[in-house]
Amino acid sequence: MTPNNISIQRLAESRGVQLRKKQGGILVGRCSFHGSRNLTLRIDSKSNTWSCTGKCRAKDKGAVEWVMKAEGISKKHAVELLKQGYLPGDTTSTVKKTTTKKLDTFEVELPDDVLLSKVVEFYTHQLRESPVAQQWLRDHNLNLPEMVEALGIGFADRSLGYRLPERNRKAGRLLRGQLTQLGILRPSGHEHFRGCLTIPITNEHDQVVNIYGHRIGRTRSGEPTELWLHDDQRGIFNLGGITGPDAVITADIMDALAVWCSGIASVTVATESTDDLTALLKARNVERVLLAHPRTDDGQEAAQALAEALSADGFTVMRVVFPQGLGPLTFTREAKVVGRPAAL
Ligand SMILES: [Zn+2]
Repeated sequence: MTPNNISIQRLAESRGVQLRKKQGGILVGRCSFHGSRNLTLRIDSKSNTWSCTGKCRAKDKGAVEWVMKAEGISKKHAVELLKQGYLPGDTTSTVKKTTTKKLDTFEVELPDDVLLSKVVEFYTHQLRESPVAQQWLRDHNLNLPEMVEALGIGFADRSLGYRLPERNRKAGRLLRGQLTQLGILRPSGHEHFRGCLTIPITNEHDQVVNIYGHRIGRTRSGEPTELWLHDDQRGIFNLGGITGPDAVITADIMDALAVWCSGIASVTVATESTDDLTALLKARNVERVLLAHPRTDDGQEAAQALAEALSADGFTVMRVVFPQGLGPLTFTREAKVVGRPAAL
C-alpha cells in the first residue's frame, strides 16, 4: 500500500473529526487544523483527497499532506509514518489495536522525572511493536528478553508526536514545551532519539536522569551513531543489575550489553573512577572488578587508570584480555563469524 492510499476518512476520524456523508462519496466536517465551527473540511472518499475552504486553503490534498499538517512534520517524515501503517488512535486496524489501547496519553504538569519515565516506557512499548528494531538486536546478538526488560531498552520509532495532544491546544503546547526543555523533542519538533534504540540511565532513587540512544539502520552522513539526552554524566548504567562479589566494567553501553548477553548481568560502564561508582560497588558487596575495555590504545589507557584508582579503593582488579583491536561487542561478533560460541 502506498502512503497516499491510506484512507483520509480514517485519518480524520481517528483524530476525532465527525464526518457527515453527502452524495457521491463526499464527507464534510469541521476542520481540526484551524478549529473553525464551520464545516470547511471536505473529503472525497472516491479520489481519497481532502480540501478545506477555511483558513487551511487546501485543495485536493492527499494522505501525506494530511499527516504533514496534522503533525507539523516534513513530507519525508509523513511518508515514512504512513508506510509503517500508522493511524493515530485507530480502533479498526487489528495491527495497532493493542498499542493504542494499552498506552496512556501523556499528562500535563507532571514532574520532569515522571514525564521522562513515561517517555522511556513509551519507547519500551514501541520496541516490542517494531520488527525492525527487534531484528537489529538479533543481528547483533543482543536479543536477550530479560536484559531488554531489566534495562528498559526501547525504540524511538518517530511516533511520540501521535501520543501528544494537538499543538493548537493548551495541553499540547505545555507538553511539547516541557519535552523540548527536557531534550526529548528538538526545537524543530522532531524527536531527539528518532530511529534510535534507547536505554535509560537511572540514579539510586530509580529516577531517569539520562537516556542513551543508539541509532540503528541508515545514518545520514554526519549523524552520530550514539547520542545522549544531555552531557551531564549523572547516574550509573544498570544500577539495579550490579551485585557482588564480581562486577564487569566496560568502556561503553553496547559493550556492556554484549557482556550481559554472554551471561554476566553484573556489568556497568565507566571510563574513569568516580565516587558514585566506588560507593555503589561497595554497597553491592563487589570485591572483584573485571575491566573489559577494548584492547585498543584508548581502552588500555582507560583500563589502566581505572585499575589504579579501584585498586587504591581496595578492590581486586582484573583485566579481561581481548585479541588486539577487539572489545566485548566486536569480539562476540567475530566469534560468531568463525563459528565459535559467542562467550567471553
Ligand atoms: Zn482547515
